[in-house]
Amino acid sequence: MPVQSQVDAVLAQVDAGLEQSLERLYELLRIKSISTDPAYAAECQRAADWLVSELAELGFDAAARPTPGHPVVVGHGTDQAGPHVLFYAHYDVQPVDPVELWHSDPFEPQLKEGADGRKIIVARGASDDKGQMMTFIEACRAWKTATGTLPVKVSLMLEGEEESGGKNLPPFMEAHRDELAAADIALVCDTDMWDRQTPSITTMLRGLVADEIEITCANKDLHSGMFGNAARNPNQVLAEIIASLRAPDGSVALLGFYDDVAEISPELKAQWASLGFDEAKFLGEVGLSVPAGEQNRSVLEILWARPTCEINGMIGGYTGDGFKTVIPSKASAKISFRLVSGMDPAKIRAAFRQHVEERLPADCSVKFTPHGGSPAITVPNDGTHLRQALAGLSSEWNKDAVITGSGGSIPVAGDFKKILGLDTLLIGFAHVDDQIHSPNEKYDLESYHRGIRSWVRVLAALAG
Ligand SMILES: [Zn+2]
Repeated sequence: MPVQSQVDAVLAQVDAGLEQSLERLYELLRIKSISTDPAYAAECQRAADWLVSELAELGFDAAARPTPGHPVVVGHGTDQAGPHVLFYAHYDVQPVDPVELWHSDPFEPQLKEGADGRKIIVARGASDDKGQMMTFIEACRAWKTATGTLPVKVSLMLEGEEESGGKNLPPFMEAHRDELAAADIALVCDTDMWDRQTPSITTMLRGLVADEIEITCANKDLHSGMFGNAARNPNQVLAEIIASLRAPDGSVALLGFYDDVAEISPELKAQWASLGFDEAKFLGEVGLSVPAGEQNRSVLEILWARPTCEINGMIGGYTGDGFKTVIPSKASAKISFRLVSGMDPAKIRAAFRQHVEERLPADCSVKFTPHGGSPAITVPNDGTHLRQALAGLSSEWNKDAVITGSGGSIPVAGDFKKILGLDTLLIGFAHVDDQIHSPNEKYDLESYHRGIRSWVRVLAALAG
């Protein structure tokens, strides 16, 4: 473990070198690595090559590895000390349109004063994810410059297709499993802080299972004057089935749905309660006031730690202009479940299908089309790496770092677990108002500076 005086020297290096560090970030931001548009393929390659030369300069054995799409940059540090971390970020960016809404060239980074007086870096990718990625690389640079070495063994895997589906990354990880799985823990820098003063590590990501169902009654559409009352209406059947999916208390009514759902620990519950999350504001911003879902649980808990059932779409009968008194032959719906740790997607899909089939009246049939099917990801809250990383973050921000969940999913974290057997710590320094994917994307200069400092301390803490 590095001694405090070493850490202090590295932090001083970060502060003294901030200006040059920004110049390097700007160089990367000037590269138009829009992954989804084939016109920018050469720019994606250029970004990958730029990263390879940065990493090589820091002593990494690095290369831009080809895939059927844009390259994956992989680098391995030659320092052997301590645990082995595998860092992930992505170098590709979203398209910039509508470009007329940008106040400056999206690929000519500007240091501006934000509305609230904070200094902000404005450019496509400033936050998502080049700025975030560079916080880690620059922390490595500061370690190397100040001490000649890294406190832990570091490998990096930098993706070029995160914003365009990322379909080539899982096969790449499969093909290089032995090489990549040699790490002890994965670090991902593509998430937000809890707020501008409070660093966080996201350890819970929900999984997803979805089914499209199509219910057929009569073998053709019918006239309600001729067949009304005599013919079964699939819209009615579908509506009754959908209504039966939730109990009046807001819980999901599938048999065994909650069997494998664990309650969160009282400590985590208390920590989330202390975050001061404003439920009224959260709902108010989308024009709502009363939380749906399970009663007697906080909104954060039902977002992060409880499974859902949502009806994403319903199609049936005549929906065009005017009116048509039809009894349709078919009705369909798209229904999805967000899953939490412990739930088996296959078991939930089977329970759902059984629930539907048991409620089908005579003369009706159902066809299921599966979508999704990924389990939730949870990093054990008592893990050593998590504890160390929390301590590293807390020491930089002079405030306890918090453990958060995410209602959505970050596929790469699932792949780290499934393909490489690695737990992932999601540590990021972005903010919800960074306007990622939108015009005038920005990153706080402080996020960049203190993000680098945070990684310096996290790497020291992970050294044990
Ligand atoms: Zn991103």
